[in-house]
Amino acid sequence: MTTFDTPGICAGRRTAAEYADAFAESHPALSAAQAVIEAERCYYCFDAPCTRACPAEIDVPSFIQRIAQGNDRGAAEVILRANILGGTCARVCPTETLCEQDCVRNAQDGRPLNIALLQRHATDSFFAQPGKPLFTRSARTGKRVAIVGAGPAGLTVAHHLAQAGHDIDLFDAHEFAGGLNEYGLARYKVMDFAAQEVAWLLSIGGITLHSNMALGQHLSLAQLRENYDAVFLGLGLAGVNALNSAMPEPQGVREAVDFIAELRQSRDLSQLPIGRDVVVIGGGMTAVDAAVQAKKLGARSVTLVYRRGEAQMKASIKEQMWAKQCGVTLRHWAAPLRFEQQDNRLTGVTFTVTNPNTDESGEIFTLAADMVLKAIGQRFDAEPTPGIQLEDGRIATDCDGRTSLPGVWAGGDCCAGGLDLTVDAVKQGKAAARSMALSLAISQAANATLFQESSHG
Ligand code: SF4
Repeated sequence: MTTFDTPGICAGRRTAAEYADAFAESHPALSAAQAVIEAERCYYCFDAPCTRACPAEIDVPSFIQRIAQGNDRGAAEVILRANILGGTCARVCPTETLCEQDCVRNAQDGRPLNIALLQRHATDSFFAQPGKPLFTRSARTGKRVAIVGAGPAGLTVAHHLAQAGHDIDLFDAHEFAGGLNEYGLARYKVMDFAAQEVAWLLSIGGITLHSNMALGQHLSLAQLRENYDAVFLGLGLAGVNALNSAMPEPQGVREAVDFIAELRQSRDLSQLPIGRDVVVIGGGMTAVDAAVQAKKLGARSVTLVYRRGEAQMKASIKEQMWAKQCGVTLRHWAAPLRFEQQDNRLTGVTFTVTNPNTDESGEIFTLAADMVLKAIGQRFDAEPTPGIQLEDGRIATDCDGRTSLPGVWAGGDCCAGGLDLTVDAVKQGKAAARSMALSLAISQAANATLFQESSHG
């Protein structure tokens, strides 16, 4: 029988009950009574700092007041009008550095309102009993919009423009819509919620999803610009950064994003192979999600190694604490030098100790490993978007999401200057949708004028 101590990479390290327990939702939801008690801690501040800190500008005191009054549907409406992905955001936003950081209760009793759990309570109550639709579609305008990428930014644009009566063709390179929410987040954070949210979002009508359609392979930007009234690119980051081409990679080394995607799509966790000793290289959320899930799959030891200190890690202190609680060892100030191997199989990774002044101090150490997950960042693949202006390797846009190509907008992780968060993609999607709707309305009005002029002879 395979156990924690079985060497190499193998599946079935845990029992069915252990898998179910390990991958149960990480933070339990509030009960109805707990939600009301927590909501009653809110001061309903004027010009509330939490709302100003929310990239999606959710009116936080307003939705919390509705929860306190027992009006969960009303609370969900406030959230979803501002943030159509408010249910996922409640689960994955780093609230400790956004809305909750600015809650005035921090100063008074050292503990902010649990805004994330209240947001989740409201949206979960709505999804459990949606009732009458919250949003309906306006009369059809006859305008056609192509959206490439069904991730958070693309979905936000699709919903807003469909609501305004435009017809949307939504293309995605994957089988399922959702982007990062469906393929890139830890399983225990979102479970099946992302798919449920997407199904609800598409139910507004007017959006046709085309799966397995990749820009540059099955579609070209030139064709889209010719065939549609407007185009939105929410392409995400398709490329991964290379570690070091001088480090040949033996069997057992893989990309953390692929590992996470496979885990999210797996129906049977006991079939997923995992190493006995796993090393994760990186310092962001992807590194933490991969490390924690490797531990939950039954790895005996998981060590996350980052080249800088705790404060420089992109993963928040809360995420780092969570990793430690789950049994992951965090090692800072070390960079990989080489993979150790035997017969092309990974046996360990040798690191060099780094410090603020040097990347190679001369001091080295080796960690035993039969599996390495690389999480050193993703990059934008510009090849399918010829002629588009870039900034820092990503698409350059103005504050309305306009790119350098007329009729083409972009948003989400593929654009320069963002926070690489779901809520930030929603913010960018909202800005682009407003700008696109305005542009489509102007062209419609211009067409109507032209038609009038020509019919007058
Ligand atoms: S969307 Fe995120 S940042 Fe905004 S209020 Fe909700 S949890 Fe806070």
